[in-house]
Amino acid sequence: MPAGFTKEETIGKGRKKYTYTDKVVVKGTKGDEKGKIRKNIKTGKKSPLIKIGSKDYTGQKLPIQFKLMANSTRLYIHPNAFACVLGTIANVGYKDITMVGFTGKDNHGFPSKTHVNGVHGDFRYLRKDKTGASLHINNDEGAKELDVTRQEKMIDAFVKFGWPKFYSYKFKLTKDQKEKQLLKKCDHLGGHHHHLHTRRFKPKFK
Ligand SMILES: [Zn+2]
Repeated sequence: MPAGFTKEETIGKGRKKYTYTDKVVVKGTKGDEKGKIRKNIKTGKKSPLIKIGSKDYTGQKLPIQFKLMANSTRLYIHPNAFACVLGTIANVGYKDITMVGFTGKDNHGFPSKTHVNGVHGDFRYLRKDKTGASLHINNDEGAKELDVTRQEKMIDAFVKFGWPKFYSYKFKLTKDQKEKQLLKKCDHLGGHHHHLHTRRFKPKFK
């Protein structure tokens, strides 16, 4: 680590956080995070974050139900993004949505580069059995379980509330399908076979 940091902390999962006057550097030390370094430049503007918890607002006119993944390391979200997530969830009304998370406590979202400031999040793929359990769509069994119709409705809802693009993973619904397919508004990116990643947030709410 370059000299000059004013603070050195361990922030969970063995991650090291170095605070400089103009930047914050997070470094991984364990498993596949080992040696990974992410630098976040301080803008002077503090991005507000709120802590996410699982919600269950059934019984009211507008059901908003979702679970936050139990071992999530990105428990924080920007208030505007949270408003838009709630809008999205209320819009589809599904009861089996599992949020993987948005950003870490210090805004870093490590090891990802795009989870900073709590405006981009990950969601498990929606399953036909509606259990909200983990789903990997990069194999036949998993892809067969993917509820494409509901998933794309949810993508439409995300778009309505300000996330126009996503990262996902190419999949085959049947073994003999020649060309793999992608969910709408998605680009293929490695590592996204078990979650949908929201991108390019511009909040849309009243
Ligand atoms: Zn992500």
